[in-house]
Amino acid sequence: MTTIGFAGLGNMGSPMAANLIAAGHDVRVFDLVEDLMTNVSGAHPQTSAAAAAAGVDVFISMLPAGRHVESLYIGDDGILSGMSKSTLIIDCSTIDPQTAQRVAAAAKAHGCQMLDAPVSGGTGGAINGTLTFIVGGDALALERARPVLGAMGANIFHAGASGAGQIAKICNNMLLAIQMAGTAEALALGVSNGLDPAVLSQIMKESSGGNWALNVYNPYPGVMSGVPASRNYQGGFLVDLMIKDLGLAMQTALASRSSVPLGSLANNLFRLHEQTADAGQLDFSSIQKLYLRKK
Ligand code: NAD
Repeated sequence: MTTIGFAGLGNMGSPMAANLIAAGHDVRVFDLVEDLMTNVSGAHPQTSAAAAAAGVDVFISMLPAGRHVESLYIGDDGILSGMSKSTLIIDCSTIDPQTAQRVAAAAKAHGCQMLDAPVSGGTGGAINGTLTFIVGGDALALERARPVLGAMGANIFHAGASGAGQIAKICNNMLLAIQMAGTAEALALGVSNGLDPAVLSQIMKESSGGNWALNVYNPYPGVMSGVPASRNYQGGFLVDLMIKDLGLAMQTALASRSSVPLGSLANNLFRLHEQTADAGQLDFSSIQKLYLRKK
C-alpha cells in the first residue's frame, strides 16, 4: 500500500482518487470545495493541501490550469517547501509546458522528483480506470510512478524530459479539435444535401475519412447513443477546456515559431462557437451546432 496525497477532486480528480482507493492505497485528499472531499468514499479529507502532502509517498495534483499548479507548489503559501524529499510528485493537470518545467525545476532544487503526467480519455476514462498518461520527466521517476498510474489508467507513455508530457498532450488535443470540427463540417455538408447523418457517418467511418470522432464520439445529434451529442451536449469534455488547450497549443507554437494554420483555425472556430452559442459548458462535440442551419 502506498500513501498518496491528492489535490483537485473535480470531474477528473474524484474518480481518479476513487480508483486509487479501490486499488488499496491510503489516499489523503484536498479540494478548495469542501463537499467534493466527502464525495470520494474511503478517502481521508484534509484541511489543506499541505496536510494532504505531509509525509506521503506520492502526491498527485489534478487542477484546472498552470496558474493553479504554480500557486499550489511554489506560490506564496506553496506546499513544495514543506514536502518530504522522498515524495514523488505527479501533476496530471493539462498546463503549459513552461510552467510544468518551472515547477519541476523547483521540485528538483528542493530534492523531490516530479513528473508532468497529463491524461487523455476524459471523464469516462477516469471513472473506468482506462486513462492514458502522457508523461514527461525522469525515466526512473516514471518507473516509481507506474504502479500508481496503473491503478488509474490503461496506457502509460514516456514522451521525454520534463514538460514533454504537456507538449504531447497539447499536440493531441489540437489534432482532436481539428478532427472534430472537420467531422462536424462534413456531416453538415451531407445533411444540407439531403443525406441521413447516420448513413453518412457509417460510410465515412468505413472509408478514408474514418476517424476517432466517427468511431466513438459522433457529434451529430441522434446518430450514436451514449455520447454527449445524444444528450444535448451535456457532460463530456467542455468547450471551455478545449479552448484552454487550443490556447496552450497557440502559445507553444508561438514559442517555437511553428506554423499551425489548422490549429489556429480550430482555435478561432471553438472561440466563435463559445461566444455565439454561449457554449462554454457544453461538450466540445457541440461545435456541430456552428454548422447546423436554423430551421
Ligand atoms: P475541474 O474544474 O472539474 O476540477 C478541478 C478541481 O481543482 C476543482 O474541484 C477545484 O476546486 C480544484 N482546485 C483548484 N485549485 C486547487 C488547489 N489549490 N487545491 C486543491 N484543489 C484545487 O477540472 P477537471 O475536468 O477535473 O480537469 C482537471 C484537469 O484535467 C484540467 O487541467 C483539464 O484540462 C484536464 N483534463 C480534463 C478532462 C475532462 O474531460 N474533464 C480530460 C483530460 C484532461
